[in-house]
Amino acid sequence: MEKRELLYEGKAKKLFLTDDDNLVISEFKDDLTAFNGEKKSSESGKGALNNKISTELFKLLDSKGIPTHFVKMLDDNHMLHKKVDVIMIEVIVRNVATGSLTRNLGIEDGTVLPFTLVEFDYKNDDLGDPKLNDQHALILELVDHQDELDKLRRVAREINDILRPYFEEKGLNLVDFKLEFGKDKDGNIILIDEISPDNCRFWDIESGEKMDKDRFRQGLGGLKVAYEEVLNRILGK
Ligand code: 5GP
Repeated sequence: MEKRELLYEGKAKKLFLTDDDNLVISEFKDDLTAFNGEKKSSESGKGALNNKISTELFKLLDSKGIPTHFVKMLDDNHMLHKKVDVIMIEVIVRNVATGSLTRNLGIEDGTVLPFTLVEFDYKNDDLGDPKLNDQHALILELVDHQDELDKLRRVAREINDILRPYFEEKGLNLVDFKLEFGKDKDGNIILIDEISPDNCRFWDIESGEKMDKDRFRQGLGGLKVAYEEVLNRILGK
């Protein structure tokens, strides 16, 4: 499958059309951004690591019955996937309090939540991805019905129920993550985007070390080594 014209360039990926109207190609970039694009850098090899990690996790979720946009990994930096209408909601799943939850509500960093929290953020860089409740999402017509919001929450919890024990077995605590969804040509809601240390937080269970983009956000260094370690654990190396 060949790349055709550039459809869209985001902060971490470029999206290309293909010969097939229903399929597109994502190119995973080495660029790193944080704080809504205010902090920028680049790490050679980061894109390929995220492509490989996402590929493994999409395959795992597909095998457990979660519909995703994934078709196949084409090479180190390219993934072939279904074309969708993107739902402009970031679905955030949290098992442990950190990041914006700690900042916004004062829950102590590292507190294990009494139940898994699912939140919605408006996917809108100009507004800084603000929090959404269901009424906001319906007023903004980000989805057609309340049922669809319920489905996003349900599928997000199912994904957490698959990924949390999967990573625990690999010595990683899945602290929180961000999911995105879209509607395919038949109107089915499917998981899109990527699942990688760019949009998940992983804490090493033994050492407590951060193995994700917080290494960049917090200037800790060693980002690529951490991402490589996440991939190696996924691959059982
Ligand atoms: P927080 O709201 O604490 O900043 O982020 C919660 C989780 O969602 C983290 O795992 C974070 O990586 C992910 N996340 C939230 N918003 C974004 C975003 O706009 N881009 C990316 N890549 N991840 C996000």
